Amino acid sequence: MVNIDSAASSLFTKFIVNSILPALSREGARRAEGLKSFMSFLNLIFPKTCYGCGKSGRYLCLDCQSKLVVRSIKPPQRLALFRYHDPIKAIIHDLKFEFVSDLIPELALLMSRTLKSKFPHLLKFWQAGDYVLVPIPLHPHRSNWRGFNQSEALVKELSPLISLKYENLLVRTQDTIPQTSIKDKLSRHTNITHAFSMIKCLPAGRQGSMKNGKYILVDDVYTTGSTIKSAITCFPKDSDIWILTLA
Ligand SMILES: [Zn+2]
Repeated sequence: MVNIDSAASSLFTKFIVNSILPALSREGARRAEGLKSFMSFLNLIFPKTCYGCGKSGRYLCLDCQSKLVVRSIKPPQRLALFRYHDPIKAIIHDLKFEFVSDLIPELALLMSRTLKSKFPHLLKFWQAGDYVLVPIPLHPHRSNWRGFNQSEALVKELSPLISLKYENLLVRTQDTIPQTSIKDKLSRHTNITHAFSMIKCLPAGRQGSMKNGKYILVDDVYTTGSTIKSAITCFPKDSDIWILTLA
């Protein structure tokens, strides 16, 4: 499914991000600030439209939200909230490859509402156990051109909504081809294993909650699971790890 308004807005924004903003300022923080107000400006020209039905106002209207298929917990400890179908599939695509960073607050809200209404016991269990949310990072190159890392941004928004702390404990140091663009399973596995051979946990001094031993690794989509399985190798063997993804 192609969301015309979002696609047009993405192209336009990419042009601004890649051509105009760098000329105004080379400094990252100022660029991010510029982008923020620019996104608000964009919303005036290209109002948000629902990825499901095209209705204007938000990226996923309440009607379409209520039609999403919520999945169940998979053993041992994995929860992919929704089926990887449109409109969620299109949203994740745009989040990953286009510049639609203002999707993040809506997605965080959707995730928190779904956790509270469909998985209240699991959420209470996480809160009582002081589980820490850990985003699966993108390679710096990929997060830089877009100005943000979608997993980190999503976790930052989600954290206060579900009363769980978050910490960036993982660093990806080598780029990979986006997993979703590789069709066969073996190549996907090779691709990510190769990439994560270079992924690092933060140095011991910066791992504030590493002692805690209870983590929830958060990513946008669980494909073959290779990404997350590789990330798990960063943690001590006796850690208690849950996996939470949007799809
Ligand atoms: Zn809708």
